[in-house]
Amino acid sequence: MNLFAGLEEIVTENEPLAPYTWLKIGGPARYFVRPTCDDQLREVIKRCQENNYPWRIMGQGANLLIDDEGINCAVIKLDNDHFGHIDIDKQVVTVGAGMSLYNTIQSTIKAGLSGMEVLVGIPGTIGGAIKMNAGGRFGDIGTQTSRVEVIDVSGTTTWRERPELTFEYRHTNISEQIITRVELDLVEDDPQRVLNRMRETWILKKSTQPMSVNSAGCIFKNPSSEQPAGLMIDRLGFKGKSVGDAVVSEQHANFIINNNKATFQDFMRLIGQIKVAVYDRYGVELEMEVEVWQDDES
Ligand SMILES: Cc1cc2nc3c(=O)[nH]c(=O)nc-3n(C[C@H](O)[C@H](O)[C@H](O)COP(=O)(O)OP(=O)(O)OC[C@H]3O[C@@H](n4cnc5c(N)ncnc54)[C@H](O)[C@@H]3O)c2cc1C
Repeated sequence: MNLFAGLEEIVTENEPLAPYTWLKIGGPARYFVRPTCDDQLREVIKRCQENNYPWRIMGQGANLLIDDEGINCAVIKLDNDHFGHIDIDKQVVTVGAGMSLYNTIQSTIKAGLSGMEVLVGIPGTIGGAIKMNAGGRFGDIGTQTSRVEVIDVSGTTTWRERPELTFEYRHTNISEQIITRVELDLVEDDPQRVLNRMRETWILKKSTQPMSVNSAGCIFKNPSSEQPAGLMIDRLGFKGKSVGDAVVSEQHANFIINNNKATFQDFMRLIGQIKVAVYDRYGVELEMEVEVWQDDES
């Protein structure tokens, strides 16, 4: 393992990725890297860049569909405690990119801060949530975010700040590949009131989305709020339709579930069928919300 010589403690080779994803799908990553500090993270990026070796960063894999054949790159995961700190100073919360959204929500509510409870039920890390601008009907993480610490490919750490830092529907203009820390600007509120709001949001989410099965959340972005992808897919009769063990959820047509042993190809075929049917009926090209990780076939 010359590429990561001296870093063997944090690198495993040919690590299957399925266990690290919510879909439980995905073959091995050539290298799986779990840095324990910023310097190590920079060193890993430096080695990859110098050797022109591809790399990706993974949160909790809640928005990923990974090829069963595996991927020939270094997958970096920030799950060391170093990336999971939270610091609360009045209404300003600084949180590591590896911290889970769940723990962030719990900590901020306990501290009497409101804002993050709207994200209850969304699995993943703070880093993944920022990258995707995760959110739902009551708001998104971008709205609560004042600045984001990033590391660029040269290893330089900077803070991206507003107003230059922007968020849109499932998108941010952060172009650097690594998010390490996030500063949230929340609002002081009574913890019990925030908790009640969180519970209401959770009950609503659970009643409309399949939360206790293996999925990656919504497969497609909504083309518009008047034309949600799930409604179009539902109207085309896709609920319950399957390819292999990949099944369109009966509860929410924009969710595809891994019923047991679904493969990457099962998912890709079903996704392809849905896209063609939606285009034929509505003239709409559905855009993926879930990120597909596979090697370039060219
Ligand atoms: C049951 C279920 C319900 C869901 N409901 C919602 C919902 O209501 N709203 C919603 O928006 N999403 C939802 N999702 C999707 C998912 O939870 C979000 O997209 C989440 O933000 C993904 O976070 P993650 O840490 O798992 O990121 P991953 O899936 O691991 O990665 C997603 C993207 O973020 C990048 N990334 C991860 N960490 C970093 C980092 N530190 N720096 C830079 N880039 C990084 C990855 O490279 C990738 O591009 C749902 C998923 C499931 C399984």
